[in-house]
Amino acid sequence: MKKQFKTESKKLMELMINSIYTNKEIFLREIVSNASDALDKLNYMSLTDTSIKMDNPSIELLPDKENRTLTIRDNGIGMNKEELENNLGTIAQSGSSLFKKENEKKENIDIIGQFGVGFYSAFMVSKEVTVISKKYGSDEAYTWNSKGIDGYTIEKSEKESYGTDVILSLKEDTEEENYSEYLEEYTLKHLIKKYSDYITYKIKMNCVHNHKKEDSDEYEEVIEEDVLNSLTPIWKREKSKIKDEEYNTFFQDKFNIYENPTKIIHFNAEGLVNFTALLFIPSQAPYNFYTKEYKKGLELYSNGVLIMENCEDLLPDYYGFVKGIIDSPDLSLNISRENLQQDHMLKKIAKSIENKINRELNDFLKNDRENYEKFFENFGLQLKAGICNNFGMDKDKLEDLIIFKSSNEKKYTTFSEYIERMDEKQEKIYYACADTVEKADMLPQTEILKDKGYEILYLTEYGDEIVLQTMMNYKEKPFANVSDVANDITSEDEKKELEKANKDSKKIFNIMKEAIGEVKDVKFTNTLKNHPVCLSSEGEISIQMEKLMKAMPTDNNVKADIILEINKNHPIASKIKKLYKEDKEELKKLSKILYAQGRLIEGLSIDNPTELSNLICDELSK
Ligand code: ADP
Repeated sequence: MKKQFKTESKKLMELMINSIYTNKEIFLREIVSNASDALDKLNYMSLTDTSIKMDNPSIELLPDKENRTLTIRDNGIGMNKEELENNLGTIAQSGSSLFKKENEKKENIDIIGQFGVGFYSAFMVSKEVTVISKKYGSDEAYTWNSKGIDGYTIEKSEKESYGTDVILSLKEDTEEENYSEYLEEYTLKHLIKKYSDYITYKIKMNCVHNHKKEDSDEYEEVIEEDVLNSLTPIWKREKSKIKDEEYNTFFQDKFNIYENPTKIIHFNAEGLVNFTALLFIPSQAPYNFYTKEYKKGLELYSNGVLIMENCEDLLPDYYGFVKGIIDSPDLSLNISRENLQQDHMLKKIAKSIENKINRELNDFLKNDRENYEKFFENFGLQLKAGICNNFGMDKDKLEDLIIFKSSNEKKYTTFSEYIERMDEKQEKIYYACADTVEKADMLPQTEILKDKGYEILYLTEYGDEIVLQTMMNYKEKPFANVSDVANDITSEDEKKELEKANKDSKKIFNIMKEAIGEVKDVKFTNTLKNHPVCLSSEGEISIQMEKLMKAMPTDNNVKADIILEINKNHPIASKIKKLYKEDKEELKKLSKILYAQGRLIEGLSIDNPTELSNLICDELSK
């Protein structure tokens, strides 16, 4: 009975069949990688189940020119009937499902190859695909067959040993496309070298060799089995002999990522534990990076044999974006949590990797600033979170990797660069919080500081302020919010004068406070230059933090104690005094408008916009 593909699979398959994608050759990489995964799975099982013995694990290519088929054979774990149904009848979880989502947006074929499009890529070059598979330990074999979009069949069949044969019946050649080349020894050898050289199982094929005949000068063609891949995994090869291109291909294939990595870290460690590490920093955060779905971790090998697909313990959370593999001859194959010796070694490896990543990131920042900034835009949040977690325990390691934009040409700066530019008089590192750099730059409180030549860091992401509060200071220079700088920038005389002005106007402020309702206090300030008002807060919770808490899904009622500050030297100050004497009702209205202005400047919402708009209209129509 013919079964239908699931809708998404159908769509993807349609694309594959009608593909105008120029890089059709990647189908071989996809099928060979699946075969290698199947061998990995069986190998992995054999680590814990000693009854499983792998018999010469390998992948074979069997081109058959007469029948126009190319078979890719493996003796890996194989698939039973349900698995054939589930795995080949629907799109697999990984890269392919992402492809599906992307594809709904763009009817664009170019994205093939960006993700592991997997098994269906076979249809780019085949008019019919047959999969004969026998699951390890089972007596039954099944054949899955599909000629494309119409659906597929699964029937019971025969197969001698466990594993999978994927048989591709190649399309007929056309003027534009030569499919026959995929039956040629030369092409297949070339494609395996290009895409699958790092596969750790032998990829074998019968090849023609010319041998000199015995007792004669003539040559004869002899068919011999060749191993097409070099088998030595890339990380075990000599670093100087590996081209960037090879690293990039390995990275893309292994982790299903389209872009080249932004940094490659390949090193050997010798000492208490010996290991080789090949680590990559991706150039883009994966689409699920900031979700729970994303699992940090490195692949763990013992002498080239995969022993753990995702070893989370090897990376601290703040370097969770690093991808890669670790290979250590000192680890035994059946690694388990109970084995303390191994655990001990893993900890040592983890420490050493962490130090190395840290050094590399510091160098990256120093030597390739432009790309570091891009990197930081992708993964900086993770580093900043690293400072806040564990009560700031890791801040010393991470603080020099943090960059913020600042009033210094709105460019990124490190803390260290900031303090280098500080003049002797300046004792604190100032920062302003807002949703964007532009908004932070326009905050009323920044004006006087800038006039004094003080640089201001612009904190634009939720949580940034918490990072600085966790750090408390950098090289003994404390951080200070621009809204809290009165003490730093006014002279004793000015302070006294302000204090008096505030005292004298206490009654005015009480009326204003009452009219506004939700402010802790109203007062004059002398830290504003041209702007009439600003908001500040008193106590532990800043305005920015209130915003942060509000954005969180939990229902909390954290509120900053807000103070409305009025520029003592602005005409509005005289107007307030005048209204107090002449028209208290008008003063109340004005207070509400001024407070609303303060909220808007801080990026806070207005509880009653209609009332505000009526108030402003009343004023304007006077
Ligand atoms: P992906 O490899 O991204 O999961 P594919 O479309 O390439 O997606 O393959 C779908 C699934 O089919 C695989 O996840 C695997 O479970 C199964 N599969 C494919 N080829 C083989 C094979 N040679 N041996 C065993 N299982 C296979």
